[in-house]
Amino acid sequence: MQRKFIVGNWKMNGALTKNEALLKEVANGVAQMSGVDCAVCVPFPYLAQTQSLLHDTPIKWGAQNVHQANKGAYTGEVGVSMLRDFGCDYVIVGHSERRSLYGESSQLVAEKFAAVQKAELSPILCVGETLEQREAGTTEAVVTEQLAEVIKLRGIQSFRTAVIAYEPVWAIGTGKTASPEQAQEVHAFIRKRIAGFDEEFGQALCILYGGSVNASNAAELFAMPDINGGLIGGASLVAEDFLAICNAGQK
Ligand code: PEP
Repeated sequence: MQRKFIVGNWKMNGALTKNEALLKEVANGVAQMSGVDCAVCVPFPYLAQTQSLLHDTPIKWGAQNVHQANKGAYTGEVGVSMLRDFGCDYVIVGHSERRSLYGESSQLVAEKFAAVQKAELSPILCVGETLEQREAGTTEAVVTEQLAEVIKLRGIQSFRTAVIAYEPVWAIGTGKTASPEQAQEVHAFIRKRIAGFDEEFGQALCILYGGSVNASNAAELFAMPDINGGLIGGASLVAEDFLAICNAGQK
């Protein structure tokens, strides 16, 4: 069985002094754990600080977004080679907040996914339905469409070096978690869609669950056969909570 992978998404939160305390406490805690892999995705300005505090710890780090082009006249944007300069291993692409607040289409998300892979970093591709879409019974169709653009641009084999995060939009930052069974159903669907043809590929495919994961619900979510870990928003900002979730990933 694959080790669980727990990724913190700080979103637009942080401050130099607070980050230092948080990263040090998380690094100390994770150093005592041997059965789980962890990463944190921090705002761009804190990548240098994160690199300097985590470079000799088992925790990896990454960014929460990237521009699809590598460089050029894109004022205010950040290219993937810059993320490499700061030692990132991961980049979140297609988070629902980017899709809904900044109008990122699945096609644009696929271009970002491609840029990340071309730079030999790993994309964490977020997919997931809104409450309205779930209630209309279109969850699988929505997730299929979100995956399809990446498959069209990069091919299905590209998921061998990517992470998928299933994040039902209605569960993000709302305190409403998908039940383990609801999450499992979609995770199993995604695994079959991506790797149904190849057992070894299916077993290696890493599909995280995200949406109000906390210290008390993590263990039951991670016990599901197709949930390989979590993408953690709010709870990744509190060392004790993030560590409890990482610890749940060891079991
Ligand atoms: C997220 O932002 O990816 C997320 C899952 O947030 P939260 O855990 O706060 O719901």
